[in-house]
Amino acid sequence: MAIFEDLTTMGHEQVVFCHDKTTGLKAIIAVHDTTLGPALGGCRMWDYKSDEEAIRDVLRLSRGMTYKAAVSGLNLGGGKSVIIGDPKKLKSEALFRTFGRFVESLGGRYITAEDVNIRVSDIEQVALETRYVSGVTNRAGGSGDPSPVTAWGVFNGIRASVQYKLKKEDLKGVSVAVQGCGAVGSHLVEYLVNAGARVFVADIDSEKVRLNVKQFGAEAASLDDIHKLAVDVYAPCALGGTLDGKTIPEIRASIIAGAANNQLLDEAVHGPMIKERGILYAPDYVINAGGVINVYQELQGYDADIAKKKAAGIYDTLLNVFKQADEKGITTNQASNQIAEKRLNEVRGMRDLRNTLRNQNWWSHNQ
Ligand code: NAD
Repeated sequence: MAIFEDLTTMGHEQVVFCHDKTTGLKAIIAVHDTTLGPALGGCRMWDYKSDEEAIRDVLRLSRGMTYKAAVSGLNLGGGKSVIIGDPKKLKSEALFRTFGRFVESLGGRYITAEDVNIRVSDIEQVALETRYVSGVTNRAGGSGDPSPVTAWGVFNGIRASVQYKLKKEDLKGVSVAVQGCGAVGSHLVEYLVNAGARVFVADIDSEKVRLNVKQFGAEAASLDDIHKLAVDVYAPCALGGTLDGKTIPEIRASIIAGAANNQLLDEAVHGPMIKERGILYAPDYVINAGGVINVYQELQGYDADIAKKKAAGIYDTLLNVFKQADEKGITTNQASNQIAEKRLNEVRGMRDLRNTLRNQNWWSHNQ
């Protein structure tokens, strides 16, 4: 694998390989970009089939965090880390504390948090060795589980999408199909039902479907049909990569707006395919930024009300993305990428100018 070629193409600043023989720790920390602030992003634990697969994942995920923070107006850079191995076999206090020491060694360039297979209790062990951690429990002054705030952001993103596409100011009578009613999906169902929407749910875990039907009055749909329903909004809230050449032609909703990360199997192919079908797509990293907005508040002294208020700002962020996409005749994901890149380039330009002036000043004093 030509790592430096990938780093050049994707624009990463630093990739750190962490190894500890005693605990069996094999981890990679990727700092994609620190233009706007410290690189923040969760730690994922996964039994990758190869080191190459782990490297690709951490490079892709950390880059995504840079765009998410930039478009959301946060003063954060993008980073991510992966621990390679089976979480059921490898997890130990010593492993997480060792990982924490590696995070600490970066001096705050990278701030870690929970991601797939990493729980709050794991992160609290990491926090014994480093200050550069977020997502600890409410008890310890942290922000705790981010999923209610993520769902609140998605809910406001759906409101914005409905306003833009259907010209409706509220969700009364709007129908929504939610694929995956886990941590984020079930909170979203509750918000939607309370706002007067008609909600359909599907999940591979039938118990979760049963709970959403019983608690919130959602209607159960089949796993195969959830994306095909004749509804206003399709909300993918399960796995990534579900919008592809097979599913996109089957979608009958006029809006796709959900929490899942990396929804488009191939951004360059499937973004335009959705646009050609006249469907409004809310870019995933814009609409699901509530989680990182929540963690950002934690770094500044956590207040749940402020976090929720900031996450509601996703409404305006998305409207801006939709307008720019229409004005320029590009896809919504291209528009959000451009908004993020513009902010990054402007701040980089400002820094370059400041450095130039500083250097000139130095020369004038030293000649
Ligand atoms: P979760 O694991 O709690 O929920 C996912 C749900 O999807 C589970 O109930 C699972 O049974 C279900 N599921 C899996 N495969 C499915 C399938 N093929 N069809 C239907 N249901 C299926 O995860 P979560 O925290 O709710 O996150 C959901 C998505 O949102 C993920 O893609 C995650 O990366 C993204 N996301 C989450 C947050 C957060 O704050 N938790 C923040 C940003 C993005």
